Order: sequence, then C-alpha cells, then structure tokens
Amino acid sequence: MTSADIRRLARDCGFELAGAAAAQPAEDRTRYRQWLAAGFAGEMGYLRDARADARDDPRSLLPSARSVICAGKLYNQPLPYSTNFTVAERAWISRYAWSGDYHAALRRGLKRLDTALRAAVGAPFQSRIVVDTAPLLERSYARLAGLGWIGKNTCLIHEGAGSWFFLGELLVSLEIEPDAPPPDRCGTCRRCIDACPTAALVPAPGGEGWMLDARLCIAYFTIELRGAIPEGSRAAMGGHVFGCDICQDVCPWNRRAPVTADPAFEARNFAPPLDKLAAIGEREFRAMFSGTPVTRARYWGFLRNVAVAMGNSGLAKFRAALDRLAMSEDGLVAEHARWALERLKPG
Ligand code: SF4
Ligand code: SF4
Repeated sequence: MTSADIRRLARDCGFELAGAAAAQPAEDRTRYRQWLAAGFAGEMGYLRDARADARDDPRSLLPSARSVICAGKLYNQPLPYSTNFTVAERAWISRYAWSGDYHAALRRGLKRLDTALRAAVGAPFQSRIVVDTAPLLERSYARLAGLGWIGKNTCLIHEGAGSWFFLGELLVSLEIEPDAPPPDRCGTCRRCIDACPTAALVPAPGGEGWMLDARLCIAYFTIELRGAIPEGSRAAMGGHVFGCDICQDVCPWNRRAPVTADPAFEARNFAPPLDKLAAIGEREFRAMFSGTPVTRARYWGFLRNVAVAMGNSGLAKFRAALDRLAMSEDGLVAEHARWALERLKPG
C-alpha cells in the first residue's frame, strides 16, 4: 500500500485529504508536554491526566499499529467569516458547530475506509478508528502524513484547502509507505497573532514558535470553562457565544478555502438572534442544538455566554432580557447578566 492508494480510497469515502504516518511517538510530543507544563491547558483536566501519557504513542490505542492513516473532512460553508459579520443583535457560533455531530459523520467515513482497505489488501489486519474523543496528537500525525503544516494559530493548514477540516484517524497494523510533512508556509505572517482579541497566541516557553494559552482563548471561555469568565476578558469576546474563528478567518490560506458538498455539514445554527437565545429554556436548548457540538457548553454555560454577548452589543433593547437573566436561578448567569447590564447604552 502506498499513500497514493490511501488517498484514492479515502476520496471515495468522502475525505478530501488523506495520508499516512508511521505509528511511532510523534516528534513534537515534547512540545505538548511543554504546553501542559506551562499551564496553558487551563482547567481541561482530560488533557493532563493519564490520557496525556497515552497521547505519546498511537500503540497505546492499538498495540499492533504500524501506520496512522489520517483523513481530513472539509466542513466549510459558503457563509461569511466572523470578521466580515457585524450584526450586533446576533450571536456568533463557531463554524465547526453549525451542523450536526461531526464525530458520527467522521466515524461513518472511517468505517467505509476500513472496509475499502480490507477489500484492497485482501488479507486480515487489525485496525482502530479514532475521532477526537481518543487521546492522540492528531494534528501532529496529520502533519507527518502530509495533510498540512501547523500554523501559528495552532491549526493544521493545507496549502490548497485551508484549515476548515475535521480530522479522523484509522490506526492499522499494516505497513504503509509514509508521506512527508509539507513545509511551514506561515513565513513572516502574523495576522492571527495580531487579530486575536484576547492575545491568546503567545510565544512558546523556550522561544520556539507560538502556542495557544487556552486560559486566554474565547473558545476555551465559551466551551470548556465551567466557572466565571475573567472580567478583564469579557469585553474582548464580542458576540461570541460558542467558540471563536477569528485566527482562522484572518489566515490568508483560508481566503479562497473550498466549501463542503456534504449535506451532513449543512449549517443549522448560523448567527442566531441573541434575544431568541436568551429566552430559551433548557429543553429548547437541547432541541435547538441537539447533535451539535454546542451542547458541550451546557445550558447554563451557554446562557452565561449569551449574557456577555448581549452586554458587548451595547444595545439597549436587550435590557429586559438581561434583567430576566440577572434574576436567574443560576448564580453565574445572574452575575454575568449584571455585568452585561452595565454595558448597555442608555435608552
Ligand atoms: S480562537 Fe479566538 S481567542 Fe482563541 S486564539 Fe484564536 S482568535 Fe484568539
Ligand atoms: S494567519 Fe499567517 S501566521 Fe497565522 S496561521 Fe495563517 S499564515 Fe500562519
């Protein structure tokens, strides 16, 4: 099997990008350790616990693994970037979360790839499907498999196709001729660093390249953080209620990024009105975002984010909704709503 064979099979299974890397410890695993040691993972304990050791070697997931087949699935939609969208009364949800469960779509594609590979090889082998729920440094292996370079914004970027990709892997006990990692094409550009509203892209400890300090990142605040959003960062969050795309939106390699033709990724929740979000009950929240990544923020965390976005809009018409949220049974939502009320223009 060559990586060209893998790419052909993967394309037939709906993956725009694919390649293979050797199933051995990734060379940049020490960088991941440095990132953890610097405290940049914040409260994301699942990145620090025993699973951090498992991330060192794909063979901890499949002991017989000899190759990691990496596959990329485009999810970009023909809708504006957040940097071109300034409708103050609407909420920004990160591009990857506009549609249904990508884990299921990726898993289906990887299952098809596994079946196609078995037919092509004609001999038994062991395999395991990995979608981002299992501990694997997937961007590192995707880079080694030739899918792109890791940009200063810490995303995997493909020269022709940009960075709007979901990644999935198929670990196999087959020897596959590995691909070569492409060159880093960030060059002297630093648009993502300069555009980040919370200065979350920081020099790596030791001075080599850039890292994401998740403790400063809007995506971390709105998705992972369970407690209060630091007051000093709230104003910089703008209308973001789930995730943030700014450092990808400004990347020149995404200027002409292709869009997906897969109906599984059709946008359901593009920029919903903030007043509608502020009024939904827990059951409606689950119904509206069922199967999408947005449920990860949980109902009360999501309302906390909506309150901050309403405050950042400055729109006096949100006063009544924020007054209601300030009376919320959830203390966190109430506190964020009080903060937001202070920011509304008189009227
Ligand atoms: S996702 Fe947003 S907040 Fe986080 S690093 Fe990128 S631009 Fe900054
Ligand atoms: S914006 Fe520039 S520096 Fe940042 S990832 Fe893209 S090319 Fe690299």
